[in-house]
Amino acid sequence: MKPRILLSLLALPALVAATAAPALAQSEFNILDAFAGHDNVNAYVEGGVLVIETTGLPDHATQQVNPNTPRAADYVLELPLDPVYLAATTPTGMGAIGVMVNGVLFYNPYTADGMDAVEQEIFDNCLGHADQFGRYHYHQAPGCLLDGTDAQLIGFAFDGFPLYSYTDADGSWPADLDECNGHFGVTPEYPQGIYHYHVTDTFPYLIGCYHGEVQLKNVQETGGAGAGTAGAPAGPQGGQGVPPAGPGGNAHQPPRGGPRP
Ligand SMILES: [Zn+2]
Ligand SMILES: [Zn+2]
Repeated sequence: MKPRILLSLLALPALVAATAAPALAQSEFNILDAFAGHDNVNAYVEGGVLVIETTGLPDHATQQVNPNTPRAADYVLELPLDPVYLAATTPTGMGAIGVMVNGVLFYNPYTADGMDAVEQEIFDNCLGHADQFGRYHYHQAPGCLLDGTDAQLIGFAFDGFPLYSYTDADGSWPADLDECNGHFGVTPEYPQGIYHYHVTDTFPYLIGCYHGEVQLKNVQETGGAGAGTAGAPAGPQGGQGVPPAGPGGNAHQPPRGGPRP
């Protein structure tokens, strides 16, 4: 296990000084701990909302694996601290569907053609790559972010539910993951239990669908195409009435293809 308590104590004075009041609940400190050590990301809690400011660029090295060069943006993402679980699932859209604690966006497991992106596309040493708009992203467990600990909080889906490493806190591999790659259970940051996702080495790798209320503002903020239609690339990509913002779409380059306009 990481020295979680030590980190909390170290972070405490700075956070108190920065925010003055009101005091954060212990679980909020624990969530913010996950962002510690990633100086390229600014995460804080404001009015029951987890705010994540990031350029989208990782704090690890990247390699050129397709014609696209990672470019910095200026994202302000907002996620509810108390996400709303819905009985019905929502398909993920193309473009960003969540953000890792190192500030990098993550996408669903599909290529623009509805194929398995992990199998079909080329990734750098940290298992990310940029799309044609320079948005660096992962489709699978980010090798350079995982530190080998159980129940490592590595990111948040855009419905606000957390994404964890392969195992739960007791070291067990979840055997009851649903189609979204999630289940209910206790985690270090949520000792009362919460619905959460896990990364897997098999499809869908990160999250297969949303089981919470999607915060569409984040999809728009990152230029994605909204919720719905994953796996149905021939259909409209707006999903729940959200038009692609500007360029929109997943816009993956074919591995050997030239840049598209
Ligand atoms: Zn779990
Ligand atoms: Zn991709």
